[in-house]
Amino acid sequence: MAGVSEREHGTYVKYKLDGCRCYPCCFADSEYRRNRERAIAYGTWQPFVDAEPVRAHVRSLMEFGIGWKRLAALAGVPTGAMSKLLYGDQRRNMAPSKQIRPRTAAALLAVEPSLENLGSVVAVDATGTRRRLQALIRAGWPKAQLAKRMGMLPSNFGDVLTRPQVTVRTVRAVMRLYDELWQADPREHGVDNQAYSRTVNYASKLGWAPVGAWDDDTIDDPATVPDWTGKCGTSDGYDAHYNMRILPACRPCRDARAAHRRERRRAGRVPRMAEAA
Ligand SMILES: [Zn+2]
Ligand SMILES: [Zn+2]
Repeated sequence: MAGVSEREHGTYVKYKLDGCRCYPCCFADSEYRRNRERAIAYGTWQPFVDAEPVRAHVRSLMEFGIGWKRLAALAGVPTGAMSKLLYGDQRRNMAPSKQIRPRTAAALLAVEPSLENLGSVVAVDATGTRRRLQALIRAGWPKAQLAKRMGMLPSNFGDVLTRPQVTVRTVRAVMRLYDELWQADPREHGVDNQAYSRTVNYASKLGWAPVGAWDDDTIDDPATVPDWTGKCGTSDGYDAHYNMRILPACRPCRDARAAHRRERRRAGRVPRMAEAA
């Protein structure tokens, strides 16, 4: 069980579950992809295919905490074929399969370490989970309410907001909660006006981004930043913050403005130097 311990860099698991984008992890990700794609392409025309790339794919999946029997079930492959692929047949003193049927290969290669396939106790990066909860709190859902809806003790709920990693079970539970509540008004669901305002103010003070600042496709990516204004990170972002009174302006907008000013100053300096000459 990986827990909150550090995973090794240079692995597809680290890339995928911790969102690490360091060079060795990106390399491991591209290796995983290349192996899989090559094996898929190869399997389309051969009567039997080389078992090795498929075995490599299966082993990567096992690193994600997906047991081989569960993997066989997910792929719809008999456990016997699966065990021969991985371990051979020890009673008959047979080594792991050298070749397998293309259909078996295709079925196994189709399985990927998606959130649905992962074991529920696998620890993953908490970024998306934290952002979803912060956005709900920002929308006026008190922590105690959210904890109750998730069947959690308030103290455990507090941990979810601060820990760098959470289990897949928690990720799934928070996704369900978010889907259910992101559009709802807490005041129509048993939250009184006072608790609502207190909660909104609390989240605003902490700078937590609202639902509208996130995109479903990128909310889990640690490299993305919230788009508060719809123009964040562009040269119009800084003014947009002022016009929409979403202050202070976010970091990417301040950076964009600084870059824009540097650019203008540099452009302005050229004629002045030309004048002096
Ligand atoms: Zn890394
Ligand atoms: Zn911004």
